[in-house]
Amino acid sequence: MMNRKQFIQLSTAGIAGMALTPAWVFQAKSQPAGKGACMIEVKTRRLNLAHTWTISRNSSDYKDNVFVKIEKDGITGIGEAAPNVRYGEDADLTTQKINDIIPQLSKMNFYHYQEIKNFLDVSITGQSCAKAAVDLAVMDWIGNAFGQPLYKLWGLNPGQAPRTSFSIGIDTVEVIKQKVREAEKYPLLKIKVGRANDEEIIDAVRSVTDKPIRVDANEGWKTKEEALEKINWLATRNVEFIEQPLPSDMLKETAWLKERSPMPVIADEAVKSAADIPKLAEAYHGINIKLMKSGGLLEALRMIHMARALNLKIMLGCMIESSVAISAAAHLSPFVDWADLDGNLLINNDPYSGVGVKDGQFQFPDRPGLGVREIS
Ligand code: MG
Repeated sequence: MMNRKQFIQLSTAGIAGMALTPAWVFQAKSQPAGKGACMIEVKTRRLNLAHTWTISRNSSDYKDNVFVKIEKDGITGIGEAAPNVRYGEDADLTTQKINDIIPQLSKMNFYHYQEIKNFLDVSITGQSCAKAAVDLAVMDWIGNAFGQPLYKLWGLNPGQAPRTSFSIGIDTVEVIKQKVREAEKYPLLKIKVGRANDEEIIDAVRSVTDKPIRVDANEGWKTKEEALEKINWLATRNVEFIEQPLPSDMLKETAWLKERSPMPVIADEAVKSAADIPKLAEAYHGINIKLMKSGGLLEALRMIHMARALNLKIMLGCMIESSVAISAAAHLSPFVDWADLDGNLLINNDPYSGVGVKDGQFQFPDRPGLGVREIS
């Protein structure tokens, strides 16, 4: 069995080798011997963005996501973490958090997955994406153990899943027009704004297409008056809803905005897990649930039920993720009003295949668990 010192040695070797091995740049394994053997592998893989990805906060050409593979009793499960700088996350910290719990996790009974959720809630703090990676791997393992896709275990009808939108990041007018043309096969678009040239961006989109769009300001507008003015203008441009118009801590101002807004106001950065939802119900019409914020599928389920009880609309979103985490979220999508699960469509080296998209509609593969398969 690998001890803690060996983990650290492996970690150091992994980080040192990063520049040389761009694919699986980090690797740590836990291999207890004997009956009920459990192997847990943690690796970082670099996902390359097809276009430089710019939102109101930052810009990037790639993302380093952390993958967790569990093998126990001859059954495997795969999970993914997409560390996000907005929440103080990065691949190294995420890997460390996961490595720290491997010795205990590998001894747990995966069929008691609710117990594993409780264990993760107390043992992984501060990197919710690390929790998500383990939760996804365990739930994939469960689906594989029962031989059924997750949506079936939850009693969901995949025919009820909403169509997903495709996101267009902030860019120059010419590049935005080009991106909108490239996105022709997607019936719904989500447009990022929140910098000085919002109107220019929306006009560029509208010069190419009249399909419905959703708009995400990523906390980019700074006063309630500015936000209301922008939203009233957007309402004349066939926009379905506005996501996170104001900074997440401006709850009172957002409640003021909700009363006056001609379109639904959706919380994203303001909501991570179920505990955040009650206080948001007065200020927003709905919430954007993401597995990386919630810490996985089981917490996302709690959030869905709580949001419904509070009469909130539900959107299911994502970070820049491979088909592992996107497929996981897609299995929950029949529960929600709006889907924005396009992270895997924005990268050009997805290491996995899983739930596909055709005309915006999810195509669930005939495979158990998350339904994903490693392809590179
Ligand atoms: Mg958002």
